[in-house]
Amino acid sequence: MKIYDLTLPITPDLIVWPGDPPLQFSQPYHLERGDICTVTRLSLSVHTGTHLDAPAHFVPGGAGVEVLALSTLIGPALVVEALAVPALTAAVLAALPIPSGTERLLVKTDNAARWTVGETVFYEEYVAVTADGARWLVDNGIKLIGVDYLSVAPFAELVSPHQILLNAGVIPVEGLNLDGVPPGPYQLVCLPLLIPGSDGAPCRAVLLTAD
Ligand SMILES: [Zn+2]
Repeated sequence: MKIYDLTLPITPDLIVWPGDPPLQFSQPYHLERGDICTVTRLSLSVHTGTHLDAPAHFVPGGAGVEVLALSTLIGPALVVEALAVPALTAAVLAALPIPSGTERLLVKTDNAARWTVGETVFYEEYVAVTADGARWLVDNGIKLIGVDYLSVAPFAELVSPHQILLNAGVIPVEGLNLDGVPPGPYQLVCLPLLIPGSDGAPCRAVLLTAD
């Protein structure tokens, strides 16, 4: 079995959303200072790195991450490539080879290469799902949409794609590193930290394949 780890490493250099609190690491206890053990303290937005969104993120009164079904977060997933497109519109999605019955869809875009080159500055022109793209996903039975930059929605159109997906119960998984992952069918395992009431949670996300 081959395992692709799609998770962005949480380091001080990781790009965070503009205006979000910065990542802060500290070590209140450290062996090198004579303490009996080392303990790291981490301060971060729940939308850091590879993470998912809960309805509470954009829906007033919406549920937190604890309601998201593990049966959706684990299971067959399709990786498709949508390269050289500026946005994931309905027309772009409709042209991709997505068999009916697909429930977990991870879309690899031109964003993918940004993680490998190790960019450290937020890029506003990232590729993401437009409002009509979000409606296409809902209408086509997608239950989990994975994207390869830090938001499922374009920087200039943040609200409506999130609302369409979250109101329909679709789980957006954001900040996946799909560089080097060939298109095709996989088993996805995406496990968010269990933070009841939270509007999002960091995840460890992997794809498994028999090859
Ligand atoms: Zn998010």
